[in-house]
Amino acid sequence: MKTVTLPSGEKVPALGQGTWNMGDTHATRAEEIAALQLGMDLGLTLIDTAEMYGEGKSEELVGEAIAGRRDEAFLVSKVYPHNASRKGAIVACERSLKRLGTDRLDLYLLHWRGTIPFSETMEAFAALQSAGKIRHYGVSNLDLNDMQELWKTSGGKGVKTNQLLHNLTRRGIELDLLPWMQERKIPVMAYSPVEQARLLKQRGLVDFAKRHGMTPAQAALAWLLARDDVIAIPKAGDRKHVQDNAGALEIRLSAGQLLELDKIFPPPTAPVPLAML
Ligand code: NAP
Repeated sequence: MKTVTLPSGEKVPALGQGTWNMGDTHATRAEEIAALQLGMDLGLTLIDTAEMYGEGKSEELVGEAIAGRRDEAFLVSKVYPHNASRKGAIVACERSLKRLGTDRLDLYLLHWRGTIPFSETMEAFAALQSAGKIRHYGVSNLDLNDMQELWKTSGGKGVKTNQLLHNLTRRGIELDLLPWMQERKIPVMAYSPVEQARLLKQRGLVDFAKRHGMTPAQAALAWLLARDDVIAIPKAGDRKHVQDNAGALEIRLSAGQLLELDKIFPPPTAPVPLAML
């Protein structure tokens, strides 16, 4: 399994699994659990969820999927900005732990920036860490100016990732935020890596994939995995999709193939404000 090194030195799988919308529908629940478990069998043991997803339904489903094999997983969850206060984040984390059926999260993220000052959230994260309820903490959807502000906050330099919208059609971070994070060795956790399946139908990507004997999803994920500081977290509630996505780990795009993709999906020519889904 290709890994990405966190600033703490710990290695995590470069390809994980997202879970937004999982657990929302009874009819697809069993397949979603089977898909997550197959993913774990294939080494995609980093699982991303959030208290927001289905208001706890996703965390419950993840808890069921990892039951009996908690130690194999690297569990990531996120706190709502309005819960990210000194006391609120602690209560929210405890609720998440209960739904997940575990005593600790491997990584706990501030889902996006709200009105509660970073200093309070960092204090809460530090308290959760001291209590052994979270191993690491990080952020999500923070643009360069937010990261610069966080960096000046006590505890801010302890973040282990910034989870961001990033894929072949969302390259805006490449000129400003990404280099800033690279200088500080903070990996990107790339969410919506196949643009919620829309990317997989784009003619340019479909043709590229056909030419090079891979599927569109594998091409999109292999493009992210080509860098050593990106963790991609595709969501797949269907086992065929999980198997397909895991195949991206076998692909190393050549410099020529990366150039071809740059022509189809041009990199930005000026900094672009961060987008979120
Ligand atoms: P995504 O992973 O880009 O796309 C998910 C969609 O693509 C699903 O409809 C899935 O279908 C389909 N899919 C996946 N692999 C496929 C394949 N090989 N072939 C065909 N279709 C495939 O979108 P996402 O769910 O928005 O993002 C991934 C994860 O990132 C989320 O689940 C969540 O954990 C996280 N996220 C975080 C934020 C944030 O604000 N921090 C925002 C968005 C997402 P099936 O389910 O039917 O397999």
